[in-house]
Amino acid sequence: MSETNRLKDLRDQIDPINLQILDLLNQRAEIALEIGKVQQEMGTRFYDPQREAEMLTALQLANEGPFSNETISKLFHEIFRATLHLEEQDAQEKILVQRKNPDQHTIIEFENGLQLGNKTFELIAGPCAVESYEQMDAVAAVLAERGVKMIRGMGYKPRTSPYDFQGMGEEGLKIARQVADKYGLVVISEVLDLSLIPMMDDYVDAFWVGARNMQNSFLLRALGSQKKPVLLKRSFGATLKEYIYAAEYIMASGNQQVILMERGIRTFSEWTRNTLDISAVPLLKQETHLPVIVDISHSAGRRDIASPLGRVARVSGADGLMVEVHPNPDVAMSDAKQQLNLNQFNQLMDEIESIGERYKQPV
Ligand code: PEP
Ligand code: MN
Repeated sequence: MSETNRLKDLRDQIDPINLQILDLLNQRAEIALEIGKVQQEMGTRFYDPQREAEMLTALQLANEGPFSNETISKLFHEIFRATLHLEEQDAQEKILVQRKNPDQHTIIEFENGLQLGNKTFELIAGPCAVESYEQMDAVAAVLAERGVKMIRGMGYKPRTSPYDFQGMGEEGLKIARQVADKYGLVVISEVLDLSLIPMMDDYVDAFWVGARNMQNSFLLRALGSQKKPVLLKRSFGATLKEYIYAAEYIMASGNQQVILMERGIRTFSEWTRNTLDISAVPLLKQETHLPVIVDISHSAGRRDIASPLGRVARVSGADGLMVEVHPNPDVAMSDAKQQLNLNQFNQLMDEIESIGERYKQPV
């Protein structure tokens, strides 16, 4: 046999082996996916280092060469990694928050006609905390005039220092409800602990989970069994993956009405309180089917850049923005530096409205 023919003959032997390896790899992957399903049902992790080590040892013992044990380990390590990735991807596609197709959008509707997630850009506004009837009334009047339909009615404040104002409690919620009813607004309010849910349910139209509680799985599960929508803020230290899994806790417990809010993450920035992670908006819109709102107040911690941040939020593809508004921010009991006064709020609204129809919400 000539050299050329021998080469062709050997290559002809290799080709079907490649196909056999391919077939075996895919058979292996199918079984691994089945294993992944069982692991998910059992609530165990996909990655099992002990099992991986055992498989590698068995392979090395069986290896008769010509590949060295080191090469065999490297090759199988790649196979294990690819399989793990496949299992994780499969699990990810099954989570409830995950957007399954481009037309999947959760729209959250309220009694007063407000819809979050239905292509319009909506505002959630109001003071950092309820401080008095007069304060809430002054803000609500302006919000209603500008077509805002949801007011912050915070009775409980998660403060850094236990000596700072902690909120008016139920008294504050009563005021918020009264004022909201007067102006046809809906009230949203932060629930700091699951023990507060039944009482708060009498006053609010939606529950709010603050950044500090994003991973409080007991609270998330309890809100998952409620009928009212839940707004979940991203923690300042959470990855987007951790964030969407926190939303999953609520949805997996039965409540599909979840609203996401990007509120800035902690970085080395000294000139802002946090750093607004604007890329979170398109990513959350892409990965989930839930409405996404941008908090331009806590992300910046200052009011002088509220308008540019508001414009950015408007064109980011978000479903709305959240801003703190107070009749006299300088004397506010919390977050005095970032709340807008009523004039500043009107200016922000003018700026956002001037963007108008030029930017249709991406779907
Ligand atoms: C808030 O929006 O009222 C608040 C306390 O913000 P965060 O939870 O993001 O700190
Ligand atoms: Mn605040």
